[in-house]
Amino acid sequence: FNGSKGHIAHADAVASNDDRRIASSEQVPKKKKVVLLGTGWGGMSFLKSLNNPNYEVQVVSPRNFFVFTPLLPSVTCGKVEARSIVEPIRNIIRKKNVNISYSEAECVKIDPNNKKIYCRATIDSHSKGEEVFAVEYDYLIIAVGAQVNTFNTPGVMENCHFLKEIDDAQKIRKNVIDSFEKASLPNLSDEERKKILHFVVVGGGPTGVEFAAELHDFVNEDVVKLYPNVQDLVKITLLEATDHILNMFDKRITNFAEQKFGRDGIDVKLGSMVTGINENEISTKVRGNGEKTSTPYGMVLWSTGIGPRPLIKEFMKQIGQGNRRALATDEWLRVEGFGNIYALGDCATVNQRKVMEDISEIFRKADKDNSGTLTVKEFQEIIDDICERYPQVELYLKNKQVRNMVDLLKEAKGDAAKESMELNIEEFKSALSEVDSQMKNLPATAQVIILVHLVHSGTKLIHFQGINHPQMFQVANQQGAYLAKCFNRMEECEKNPEGPPRFRGTGRHRFHPFRYRHLGQFAPLGGEQTAAQLPGDWVSIGHSEQWLWYSVYASKQVSWRTRALVVSDWIRRFIFGRDTSG
Ligand code: FAD
Ligand code: MG
Ligand code: MG
Ligand code: MG
Ligand code: MG
Repeated sequence: FNGSKGHIAHADAVASNDDRRIASSEQVPKKKKVVLLGTGWGGMSFLKSLNNPNYEVQVVSPRNFFVFTPLLPSVTCGKVEARSIVEPIRNIIRKKNVNISYSEAECVKIDPNNKKIYCRATIDSHSKGEEVFAVEYDYLIIAVGAQVNTFNTPGVMENCHFLKEIDDAQKIRKNVIDSFEKASLPNLSDEERKKILHFVVVGGGPTGVEFAAELHDFVNEDVVKLYPNVQDLVKITLLEATDHILNMFDKRITNFAEQKFGRDGIDVKLGSMVTGINENEISTKVRGNGEKTSTPYGMVLWSTGIGPRPLIKEFMKQIGQGNRRALATDEWLRVEGFGNIYALGDCATVNQRKVMEDISEIFRKADKDNSGTLTVKEFQEIIDDICERYPQVELYLKNKQVRNMVDLLKEAKGDAAKESMELNIEEFKSALSEVDSQMKNLPATAQVIILVHLVHSGTKLIHFQGINHPQMFQVANQQGAYLAKCFNRMEECEKNPEGPPRFRGTGRHRFHPFRYRHLGQFAPLGGEQTAAQLPGDWVSIGHSEQWLWYSVYASKQVSWRTRALVVSDWIRRFIFGRDTSG
């Protein structure tokens, strides 16, 4: 223990609750204030893992609940109830020993110079606009997620459904059921019924594919019994602008999904760009030959990816990151240029540092005896640290199938290299000169995913180059937990700024950098079949993977309450089918 701070903390711990309240307002130096924006995956995971009572946390989010997004598609056709996949944020924060408060509001502006944010209450939509209030912070954590991206396609906002929030899923469910009721009314021509029952999904990513699969199951399992007169008029079309659906997954999964959809009668149109949508028709252009068509539709789900929210766009402009699609952070999740602002999840990307930018510093640190040269032994000692800090090095070594440093050094020094060899800075540079090329041309977060895939599984890069959905709850979830761990250890680290032994001497590097661990991905394809891509390049598709999916998603629920609800919804659906009132 050093000094009064440890003392107070100790006294605080033994005091009764009442004393503590008085003590904290009158004697103890003010607690550092953490402001957290967002109650999605990133925010929830931070709150769940935070247990350092020395902080005061204020959560600001327009949504006073967390949504388990992977089950949103299941809500659209009534497999799971909306209530079952949301958890009130107040349930999450009341269980903590940390002082956490919540305000139902959205942040509208960040003022990093004065350490303040401006917020607008969102409770009563009529009073929107006036009630802007300021909140001061010592640390700001931005986890506001992203918004749907329409690519400015005309008519999308007005005529399409989206699947991002719980309201969206409920609206879709109502709309799906309404469509079947509408199509069952008398006095309609078959043409009109067909139009009403033409469901179009734009975007062949996981969300679009899963919705198409849910809808197909719904038609096959329930509509056939409940609306037998119209079942033959139903059509599901999936429009994808690129050459394949699910193109962030392994080829085997993509192929299987395309074939399964083909057999199921889902019309997958590849290379099909949507150019506009009006109340009755959706217009597309075929990539390549430029052929244009307009098709009548009943309902369109738009799920082509995400873009930055206005708040983030504005903030990026303010801090000179204007041309980016997401906030750039360092590997400790700090927004570049700020020590006290963190960003995670879909609104952020981790900027991986280049080895060559830090090469002199690395050399200096490795050269323990200050001789101006590195021995192989000195190099060997630091290589693990380098690999942790710069994952591209690990990847490079693996790709070159170089296990031992002497081999790498041989390339730099020629065949003269031996165990006893010494290396000057220029030779050191040339030994590592190509490692940074491993990170070229890849979006930052996805890059981390790809690297870890490669490092842990030897999966071929080619499979994943097309990755275009780096946004994953797994990333946000792991980042939130990581950041909470940093905050849990913050004082310890401030007292001991040299950091953990491996980074001793680097000052700034108080925590291990964030490293994403890929835990695998699922793509439910309908008919109780799921494709799973797990670490180790382990791809498998079928019915047992659906059970794996059920068990993984049951276990990933944030509370026993939602777990019980979700599981009972699944059982209810197995026995009684979907609830089609709406
Ligand atoms: P979010 O979870 O979106 O949370 C953002 C939070 O910020 C929300 O609470 C929001 O209300 C709040 N907010 C917004 N604006 C403001 C503001 N101005 N001020 C304060 N708060 C604000 N990923 C997977 O890995 N696997 C899956 O199977 C999967 N399935 C998905 C299915 C669907 C239908 C969707 C939509 C997404 C899916 N994802 C999946 C992606 C995953 O949900 C996201 O990557 C994850 O939610 C990102 O977490 P986040 O905390 O960054 O943002
Ligand atoms: Mg969040
Ligand atoms: Mg969420
Ligand atoms: Mg985010
Ligand atoms: Mg030396």
